[in-house]
Amino acid sequence: MVRIEGESKKEIAYLPPPNEMRICMPYDNSFVEERFELLSLKKINESLSSDERKIKSFTKNEENFYIRLKAFDKMLIHSYEMAKKGKEAMGFMIGDVRRWEKEYTVVYDVITASLETTSFSVRFTREAFEELSDKLDDIEYEYIIAGWYHSHVGYSSFMSDVDISTQKLYFNKPFHAAMVIDPINMEAKLFRLYNETCFEIPYIIFE
Ligand SMILES: [Zn+2]
Repeated sequence: MVRIEGESKKEIAYLPPPNEMRICMPYDNSFVEERFELLSLKKINESLSSDERKIKSFTKNEENFYIRLKAFDKMLIHSYEMAKKGKEAMGFMIGDVRRWEKEYTVVYDVITASLETTSFSVRFTREAFEELSDKLDDIEYEYIIAGWYHSHVGYSSFMSDVDISTQKLYFNKPFHAAMVIDPINMEAKLFRLYNETCFEIPYIIFE
């Protein structure tokens, strides 16, 4: 198996969190809609059917996950471009865990794999892991994998049973999160597991 554990290469730094540009609360899509508008991502009607079953999630208003705007836009654009081809997108969120009053996660960038995905197959295949792994090797700064993202083409943002299995298997640190983007309905929701239960959590955008 490709390494994914042990990516934490560094000590937790004491640093104040970035200045927030926008806090995106659960159930609030307004920021995502604004970004689609600003990035000129025109409404598309591609919708895929899916076998993903929605798992009940709750909300938790813990504000400790920061995403750089550039990385956020990259996830939206990737999801959108793949949706136009009738495919799902997937990638890793790369960043850091820091402490300032409380522990928080910062996402600087995302890396993507060029998968031959369809709505039924955007999963972590061995090839995808290897490609992502090679890209991780190219990163020059110290980083941690803050989580992963993938898209749901037209069937809304949620965590499915399969997504939760992936989360438990590869992203089981307390700071890990999963971003699920639906480029058709313009949703981008962030999820995290707390004691095996899935919660939608806010994320904070910074520039
Ligand atoms: Zn999914």
